[in-house]
Amino acid sequence: MELTGWVKNYEWGRVGINSAVAQLAMANDPDFSLNEKESYAEMWMGTHLCGVSIVKETGETLDRVLKKDLPYLFKVLSIKKALSIQVHPNKCEAERLHKDRPEIYKDPNHKPELAIALTPFLALVGFRPVTDIADFIDEFQPLTKLIGKEAVQQLHAYPNADSLKLCYEKLMKSDDAVIAKCIQDISKNYQKELKENELLDVFNTINKDFQGDVGVLSIFFLNLVRLQPGQAIYLGANEIHAYLDGDCVECMACSDNVIRAGLTPKYKDVEQLIASVIFQGGAAHSKLFVPYRIDDTVQVYVPPVDDFAVINVAIKHTVDTYKLQIQAFGSILLCLGGSRTLRLNTKDGAKDITLTRGSIVYIPVEAAPEIEFVSAEDCGEDFTAYIATYNYFRLA
Ligand SMILES: [Zn+2]
Repeated sequence: MELTGWVKNYEWGRVGINSAVAQLAMANDPDFSLNEKESYAEMWMGTHLCGVSIVKETGETLDRVLKKDLPYLFKVLSIKKALSIQVHPNKCEAERLHKDRPEIYKDPNHKPELAIALTPFLALVGFRPVTDIADFIDEFQPLTKLIGKEAVQQLHAYPNADSLKLCYEKLMKSDDAVIAKCIQDISKNYQKELKENELLDVFNTINKDFQGDVGVLSIFFLNLVRLQPGQAIYLGANEIHAYLDGDCVECMACSDNVIRAGLTPKYKDVEQLIASVIFQGGAAHSKLFVPYRIDDTVQVYVPPVDDFAVINVAIKHTVDTYKLQIQAFGSILLCLGGSRTLRLNTKDGAKDITLTRGSIVYIPVEAAPEIEFVSAEDCGEDFTAYIATYNYFRLA
């Protein structure tokens, strides 16, 4: 079943043809008309009510055809301006938050998420090693002033979760005017130090986009992670993060629960964030999420939750036919490049579907145990696709 994704034009998205979302939407749908001045932020693939996919042949929504919801939501993101600093609650917290404040926490589900870079991708992920944070606070004196000598001394004497929490809480609960002054002082007097620490570009960019926002100072506390295409990060419950720049595919449990802490005009739930977030420092490279390689063609990103996994299929153009073993769960395939004929079983019998960049296909349970990628004529380009599915790899 071929699908059309649901495009979201949030203002933080990349503009016009620079957006991977716009490029893929155009390639998917000949009727898609590109506006060069419009932001194209996200494309959703799945059954989530806020952006359900459409079945191309009939125009029906995917949830109506399947008569059920998929446990995961698959997306392409194209980011020009930082998304908010956030954590996602675990299942118990999500249930409680939804019950107490349904207007903010809209469903009772957790939202672990996996982002795989399509272009060079920049994100803040988890706290830096605590001793590095202490060194930054020393080097950038306006921060020492803001957080206060006592808390900073404790951070040096006991570089652990408690003292990190004490300092971060001081930062997050400072008055807006005090925060704005601190950012201004650093901006004015610490350009050289920012540059030496490779923070100058990111500091200036987010300070321009979110002037005076406490999130600007979070770059001294959180790891700056740079991903190359194919590299991934996994955000489990209560792991603090913010996506800053680049294109990625993203897969997550079907939920929209976000506890925000900065870089946003939206509601910041600082109390809940401090209560939930994991105060554990760790090196940036430890944040990379490494896929499991099946063979020369296929690797699988297997997160520690049941809701979803992502399969990467990269077939050399010299390979004639590639057979992929799958299990009987509904999956969604997104083609990013090259061309192949997808041969699979459906409830109406065997079917061939031509895949090119932008193709989105729902792979039904009847397709198990095997789908085939048959070489298409006159194509000298290697084939690449990502497939979102239920995480049956955990059972194996
Ligand atoms: Zn998130």
